[in-house]
Amino acid sequence: MTEIAPKVHRIPNINGSNAVLIEDKKMVLVDTGVAGNGDTIISYIKEIGRKPEDLGWIVVTHFHYDHSGSADELSKLTGANIVAHLDETIETSEGKKFLLKGNENTGTGPPWWYRTLFGNRIIRSNRKKKGTQKRFDYIDTEIHQTVNHGDIIPVLGGLRILHTPGHTPGSICPILEGRKMIFLGDSVLNNRIRLSRPLTWDRRKRKQLDVSLRSLRDEQIEHACFGHGPPLMDDAEVSIKALTERPYNIPTWRIALKHRSTLKRFRERSKQPGHWEGGIDSE
Ligand SMILES: [Zn+2]
Repeated sequence: MTEIAPKVHRIPNINGSNAVLIEDKKMVLVDTGVAGNGDTIISYIKEIGRKPEDLGWIVVTHFHYDHSGSADELSKLTGANIVAHLDETIETSEGKKFLLKGNENTGTGPPWWYRTLFGNRIIRSNRKKKGTQKRFDYIDTEIHQTVNHGDIIPVLGGLRILHTPGHTPGSICPILEGRKMIFLGDSVLNNRIRLSRPLTWDRRKRKQLDVSLRSLRDEQIEHACFGHGPPLMDDAEVSIKALTERPYNIPTWRIALKHRSTLKRFRERSKQPGHWEGGIDSE
């Protein structure tokens, strides 16, 4: 058992992002990792003496495959509803909503310097490795319930949704108010020494993310869970405030160049369990 707070479990051996289970009569899972984690999550649910059907909601902090990859399989195994922000979905002609796939900025991929430094080469080397391709593919994921800023999922006194666009248009940071615990997804990285913003090359998105992060200063937060790496259990509010006070005006190419080896390592390891060993310090 890996309880990080009473009734809040960081499920071990998940590939991709963290997957955190919040236990109540009906349980909530925040993020799922890449595709193929369904059985690991079900085994964990059984290990703590619960039934797969007790899972009521699967909340995805944003559409990226390393967070949403197992949502669909898990929903089919448990009957849980998949929840995402409206801006993270597209609607089909039949009126069903599906999670976005791939690059949210259709037509504007990474800039040339990023592709030159990391992009194509690393992606090609990942593709070559047997059995890994599935993990990098986006799965058709039907969203059963969309949420907006302020919505509350009824678990352990309420999981309140904060809309924090920037990393993606519909990124959310849910807050478990009874535990003063926030789930930051990829909107903040937990580096070894301090918190950082994720690498974002689009200036407009950087500004939008900063507005989102500054809005977190009004919240009562003690503990923070991240999309990758260990949680921050003490004084998360102070660390988040310190992050938002640091300027965010260095060009992204300079940050990327400075942290070239870390970025490469990160991309190569992104399929391993618990792969995030400190991110890129973005300023
Ligand atoms: Zn992400």
